[in-house]
Amino acid sequence: MEEEVVKRYTLLISFACFFLMLFLAMMPTIEIQAGRIIAENKEKWEQAKKKDAIVTYENFISDTKVEEETTESALPEGTIRIPLPEESKDLVIEAENDYMNRVVTLTITGFDESLLEGDPMIGSPDHIMDVSAYMDGDAFVVQFLTEDVVEPTYEIEDGHLYLKLNNPWDIYERIVVIDAGHGGRLPGMVVGNTYEKDLTLKIVNYLKEYLEGNSAIKAYYTRTTDVDISLYDRAELANNVHANLFLSVHLNALAKKSEAGTNGTMTLYDEDKTEGEHTSYDFAKIVNDMLVEKLGSKNRGLTKGHDIYIIREANMPVALAEIGFMSNKKELELLKSDEYQQKCAHALYLAILKAFKEGY
Ligand SMILES: [Zn+2]
Repeated sequence: MEEEVVKRYTLLISFACFFLMLFLAMMPTIEIQAGRIIAENKEKWEQAKKKDAIVTYENFISDTKVEEETTESALPEGTIRIPLPEESKDLVIEAENDYMNRVVTLTITGFDESLLEGDPMIGSPDHIMDVSAYMDGDAFVVQFLTEDVVEPTYEIEDGHLYLKLNNPWDIYERIVVIDAGHGGRLPGMVVGNTYEKDLTLKIVNYLKEYLEGNSAIKAYYTRTTDVDISLYDRAELANNVHANLFLSVHLNALAKKSEAGTNGTMTLYDEDKTEGEHTSYDFAKIVNDMLVEKLGSKNRGLTKGHDIYIIREANMPVALAEIGFMSNKKELELLKSDEYQQKCAHALYLAILKAFKEGY
C-alpha cells in the first residue's frame, strides 16, 4: 500500500474507533453473564435480598416495577404469594421449568386481574433476578428469571397460590445430568448423511423415558431437541444442580478408510479426579461394562479424558460414553436402528441405577 493511502486509512479507522467508543458510552449498562442479560433492576433485588425484605410486585400488568416493603412477613424463603379467585374450579395452573435458560413460567388460566388490586403478588426475592408478568386472555402469566436452577412447587391455601422456588438438592437426593453430545449447528461426527448429534439425541430421549419412570431419580438434560448448547452450559448445569452423576453420550468415528473395521465401545473419565471412593474412573467403568454387556459390543475399555472440557469442569463423577463407531458400516447400521438405540438407553439407565446402588 502507498503511504498516502495508509494515512487515509489510519484516519478513517481512528474516526470509526471514536464513534464506536461514543456509541458504547451512550448505551445503557446491561450486564451479560453466561449468555443471559441481567435486567437493570438487579441492584434493587440485591438490596431487597440483603435486607431480607418482602417484595411487593406492583403495576404488574403494565410493567415489572418492584417495590420494597420493610414489614416482616411470614412468607418462607423463596416463596411467592398470588391471590386466587374464590371460584377456583375452572382454574388451570401450570408451572413450567426451562432450566437451561433459568426461566420458570407460572400460568394461571381463569384468572381475573382485578384480584391483584387489593391483594398484590408478594414474595421473597431469593433466587430471582427478574420478573415479568402479563395477562394472556384470561391467563395470568408470571415469568421468573433465576440465578440458579430451581425446582418450582406450589400449594394452594386460604385463597392464595404459594409458589416456591426450591434448590434442586433440597428436594432430590439423587440427581443425574444427561448430556446428548453436540447439537444445533455442531453435528459431531458425520458419516454420509448421518449426524452424531441426531443419534445421541435419540438415545438420550429413550433414556429419558426410562428415567421418567423412576421417581427416585431426578434427571436434568442439557438438551432434548436439536439445539446449540455450549460446553460451558453443559458442565455448568451439572455443577449448578449439584448432580451426583454426569453422563455424556457420544459416538465415535475414524476418518481413514483403512480404519473402517474399527468398532466397539469406550468410555472417557477424568484421570485427575481420583479422590474419594466414587471416582470418575469407577463410574465410567460401570457405564462401559454395562454397555458392552447389554449391547454385545467390543470392549475398548476406558480412556483418559481430562483434556475434554466438560469432563474437566464437572465437579462430580463424570463419564463420557463413546458407544460405537459410526465409521464402521455394521455398527452404524445398528446405531441407526430404534431397537439398538433403545438397548443403548436401557444399558445407560441400568448403569445409573448401579452407580446409585453403590452409593454415588
Ligand atoms: Zn461426539
